[in-house]
Amino acid sequence: MPKSCPTCGNSEPKVKFFGNFCEDCSKEKFLSRLPKTVQLQVCKRCGKIKANGSFAPPTGSNIEIAIKPQIGRYSIHLIDFTDSSAKLDVAEETANGKLAVELPVVIEQKRVLCDMCYKKACNYYEAVMQLRGNNYKIARFIERVTRFFDVNNEFVGEVDYNSDGADVYLSNKRLAQAYISKNKMHSTNSYTLSGVKNGKRIYKNTYALRLE
Ligand SMILES: [Zn+2]
Ligand SMILES: [Zn+2]
Repeated sequence: MPKSCPTCGNSEPKVKFFGNFCEDCSKEKFLSRLPKTVQLQVCKRCGKIKANGSFAPPTGSNIEIAIKPQIGRYSIHLIDFTDSSAKLDVAEETANGKLAVELPVVIEQKRVLCDMCYKKACNYYEAVMQLRGNNYKIARFIERVTRFFDVNNEFVGEVDYNSDGADVYLSNKRLAQAYISKNKMHSTNSYTLSGVKNGKRIYKNTYALRLE
């Protein structure tokens, strides 16, 4: 006996079936179980989005990663997106095979500050490089260390120029040390206690460097 769809009344072989319901009605039902709105956390300063726990550039693949957990256990593929909407391919493996639908969603942007922008906003720093010596070399050094911090997702904050040279404030002391080691430079180091976190003493490091 040909199947007849309990929802729309269409029957085989006029329409394809997916279990007890016709394909169209199965898709309708699947769509009705999916969210119409998803949220994206967007940094209001740099525009990065939160995907998988950390902030990343708002590319298609990162948006897909950010949306995925909100769609549930289904496999998704981002077809198209704007700032406020997206179109997704969503597929479910059923006992009758793969059921795929195109899902339009509204993107609700939650404007936040990413970790880095938050640190910049409060002038956070872990290390200071005290640069002394040739002013031209100091300027070149600051350019290079700024680039190095940028590509490693950290930042150079304030730069204080004074009659002796410049003091450069850096967001990450491990990276500051790595830069000095990488360039085989010799620094005179000092450590200032800046606080205690979870019972551990936190130091800010100062690296005095001579550039002749
Ligand atoms: Zn139907
Ligand atoms: Zn940011």
